[in-house]
Amino acid sequence: MKYYSTNGQAPMADLKKAVVKGLAEDRGLYMPERINKLPKAFFDDMPEMKFQDIAYNVASAFFGEDVDLDALKDLVYDTLQFDCPVVKVKENIYALELFHGPTLAFKDVGARFMARLLQYFIRMEGQHEMVNVLVATSGDTGSAVANGFLGVDGIHVYVLYPKGKVSPIQECQFTTLGQNITAIEVDGVFDDCQRLVKSAFMDEELNQRMKLTSANSINVARFLPQAFYYFNAYARMKALGKADQFVMCVPSGNFGNICAALFGHAMGLPVKRFIAANNANDIFYKYLLTGKYEPKPSVQTLANAMDVGDPSNFARIYDLYGKSHERITSLISGATYNDEQIRQTMRQCYDETGYILDPHGACGYQALVDGLQEGEVGVFCETAHPAKFKEKVDEILGIDVEIPDRLAAFMRGEKKSVPMTKDFNDFKKYLKKFGHLK
Ligand SMILES: *Cc1c(COP(=O)(O)O)cnc(C)c1O
Repeated sequence: MKYYSTNGQAPMADLKKAVVKGLAEDRGLYMPERINKLPKAFFDDMPEMKFQDIAYNVASAFFGEDVDLDALKDLVYDTLQFDCPVVKVKENIYALELFHGPTLAFKDVGARFMARLLQYFIRMEGQHEMVNVLVATSGDTGSAVANGFLGVDGIHVYVLYPKGKVSPIQECQFTTLGQNITAIEVDGVFDDCQRLVKSAFMDEELNQRMKLTSANSINVARFLPQAFYYFNAYARMKALGKADQFVMCVPSGNFGNICAALFGHAMGLPVKRFIAANNANDIFYKYLLTGKYEPKPSVQTLANAMDVGDPSNFARIYDLYGKSHERITSLISGATYNDEQIRQTMRQCYDETGYILDPHGACGYQALVDGLQEGEVGVFCETAHPAKFKEKVDEILGIDVEIPDRLAAFMRGEKKSVPMTKDFNDFKKYLKKFGHLK
């Protein structure tokens, strides 16, 4: 399979190049040249299939030409050692719980998959140059990537995160690991972190000196595996006899997760329509209304993993539908909620149903409450375990959310991070001094 750039000014790449480089030469995002449809029999059989087997079928359609099938199966099974259950919250509204992975984040799947795929390519070449992985995070990406890559030889990971803007629990998930993981605390916002990472990839001198790659959701190996979740959601809903008019609602920030769902749809997944739920960062919502995409600086909200002012994967969605606003709005609608509405939703849902939403999932849940039509059944992604936002959830609901053991273990570690300004020259100096050279 070949991959082209959404900007159309870069040469086609094979999978290995797309994964190792992350971003194309023209700063565009890689897109597969074809999206293979899956056979009808697969959709018929899905309700009886395990998550891992469903995922292996989906993975083969994307990566089967470029990765040995036994290795791919191994990789999928290694990545998915947990479930992603569909839980009924109330009549016609279900939560797809994406937080049962190692760091309780949906990003665990893409992170682990990418780490293993990168390792597969490094090993195949038999080469021993270290690869430097750069990742910008507003919280969840950092912990998922750091844990997905932890101890994978041949790779060193630098996690850039905005100082004081991630929750203490999130922070300790990538600052306490050590080994091949370095946390970099940037005096700025998430968009600054993302800009530093993007600038590093575009910097000729750095690229001559060292192998740099990204683990942000711009990487095809990070975002595509998230399609597994949506096939599993369909399978579980079909088993319940609820899949006929199935609406999928995804709380979105950088739009990697919903983009993977849309790729699933293009592979034949019978979802009737999609809803992208936003917090107060409503750039995509405004695009749906006006046809104009106008990025702006992000604002800080309760759902901080969605505080994105210029969602990277918009370019992929735009490309997927031939840049047609009409095609996009016929399949996808939007919703936007400010912090006060998020609080209200969390309280109302808890009082009515007993289900504890985290602030991100709350946007998804409310978008279904507001947007479901007669006869439709809605599934929203619950993208984070509520304990990851314990301070907020406890305060809003007046409860004491239990911290799962896996999470508590991180909190016992010692925090280590490198302070950094938001000036690219400082970051560059640091990489030249401490990065792994070719
Ligand atoms: C990353 C994240 C999101 C947003 O996902 P995107 O793929 O960036 O749209 C939503 N909720 C949580 C908890 C996240 O960590």
